[in-house]
Amino acid sequence: MSAPDHTFAPIKEVFCSVQGEGPYVGTRQVFVRFSGCNLSCDYCDTDFANPGTCNYERVEGSSIFENIPNPVNVEKLEAMLQPFKKLHSVSLTGGEPLLHADFIKNLNLSSPLYLESNMTLPKQVKKICEKVTYVAGDFKLPEAIRELCPENREVHVENTIECFKLLRNNSSRDCFCKIVVGRDTKFETVMLAAEAVAAYVSCIILQPETPIGCAARTQQSTQASVNKILKLQKSLLELTDTRIIPQTHRMWGCL
Ligand code: SF4
Repeated sequence: MSAPDHTFAPIKEVFCSVQGEGPYVGTRQVFVRFSGCNLSCDYCDTDFANPGTCNYERVEGSSIFENIPNPVNVEKLEAMLQPFKKLHSVSLTGGEPLLHADFIKNLNLSSPLYLESNMTLPKQVKKICEKVTYVAGDFKLPEAIRELCPENREVHVENTIECFKLLRNNSSRDCFCKIVVGRDTKFETVMLAAEAVAAYVSCIILQPETPIGCAARTQQSTQASVNKILKLQKSLLELTDTRIIPQTHRMWGCL
């Protein structure tokens, strides 16, 4: 059997827009959305299935997409990113971009890399640690992941903490932690997660869960109450800078 070719990766879409979440909200980025994810979160709103072609919007906001055959090689992706200027950074998102760490390692771009990750693959993190300037790291609370049986929860949490340790905030990298808070999120679980990573991050972002599918249509909210999130923030501020920032791209319908 031949070894996997790390110069190719399945990519779902490439487009230029603005960051919709966290402390860099509103900054101009190119998004590279990789296919595939190793988790299955209850609130997932991302279609990360492996497509035959990559949707490439060469002109931002045009809604005109070219179909680039998948998998895409490193040189091709670098060329696809060429038209986009004045970027804050290139967002590597998914799915889970760390599944394609070997491909990312080979990328040579002029803009800094902004990794959006579920922070559960420490072995993959080690391959790209030195390449990323921004880390938007999720702490996926174990209770929000469908397939995670109780005996695997400890490993999931250990892996998450290890990823934050490896990608910790330092003078050349901003690493922050995002925690999605929904109606059923337990106060104690958020506190434990935040305590475990507070030393490694510049801030914690509490992101109110955005209702999807039926919940959004019927307005049967899966969202936590304002009161609950404000109380959480107050407690977390004892540990570190903590901000409440909802997803903003959904408010004005951009990609
Ligand atoms: S880690 Fe992200 S992409 Fe993967 S299932 Fe969870 S929310 Fe969806």
